[in-house]
Amino acid sequence: MKIKHVLGLSGGKDSAALAIYMREKYPEIDIEYFFTDTGKELPEVYDFLAKLEGFLGKQIKYLYQDEGRDFDHYLDLYNYFLPSPQQRWCTIMMKLKPFERWAKSFVKEGYKVIQYVAIRSDEEFRTGYTPKGTDIETKLPFREDGVDKQGVIDILENSSVGYPKYYEWRSRSGCTFCFFQQKIEWVNLKERHPDAYEEAKFYERQAIAGKAPFTWTQGETLDELEHPDRVAQIKADFEKRKARSESSRQENPLRKGLLVDLDELYLDEEGNGACLICHK
Ligand code: SF4
Repeated sequence: MKIKHVLGLSGGKDSAALAIYMREKYPEIDIEYFFTDTGKELPEVYDFLAKLEGFLGKQIKYLYQDEGRDFDHYLDLYNYFLPSPQQRWCTIMMKLKPFERWAKSFVKEGYKVIQYVAIRSDEEFRTGYTPKGTDIETKLPFREDGVDKQGVIDILENSSVGYPKYYEWRSRSGCTFCFFQQKIEWVNLKERHPDAYEEAKFYERQAIAGKAPFTWTQGETLDELEHPDRVAQIKADFEKRKARSESSRQENPLRKGLLVDLDELYLDEEGNGACLICHK
């Protein structure tokens, strides 16, 4: 039977590390890399993927471009209601379905599809997504080979790829306006990518005018969040949490000065629910 090996990249560190790992440890496996592009990604994500392409020596397939459907297309379809953790149409329509259609096209051609998912050995609670009605096989090489979070850091640091640049100010990949984003990340988005912040405001105002129940971030609009007093408060809260997290962390003398793991910080304090396909 013909076999198609596929590996989805989110623009985040774990899936990138898995691509590097597979290339180095299993060079005999011919893998197709894909990225489900919503058209609303950070420029840093594209830069990072381009760097990764250079390392892998292989083009990454951007799925939405084939589909011709992006966020604006679906927002229109959903009556301008913003996606939210409760109504997560964005992930379903822009990430899972394009992957499903793409994978099924291989199945139709007589391939067995094996997908490689970047779930680490320290993430026992997680499972990979397998499209319904397919017999796509999911493999978790990091879990099987005992690669944990530190292992992922080592893989990235020891390659020429390194970290995505957005880790300086944001904890995860995904859309510029992702609702899993934390308050401090919205502030950072406004400072780093004011156009993207303005665009998110536009979508939000449109949703509110249509009486949609959700704003992008809990309990306030982006117009309220950008008020200078509110920005100062969010920054002060963040600094306090960072200091608390750093004082409770045991410093590894070999890793002095390593970037603060914002992801852990956010998970602890502001809740989480981000999905593998967008952020891993
Ligand atoms: S990154 Fe966020 S907004 Fe974008 S598809 Fe994923 S969950 Fe939705």
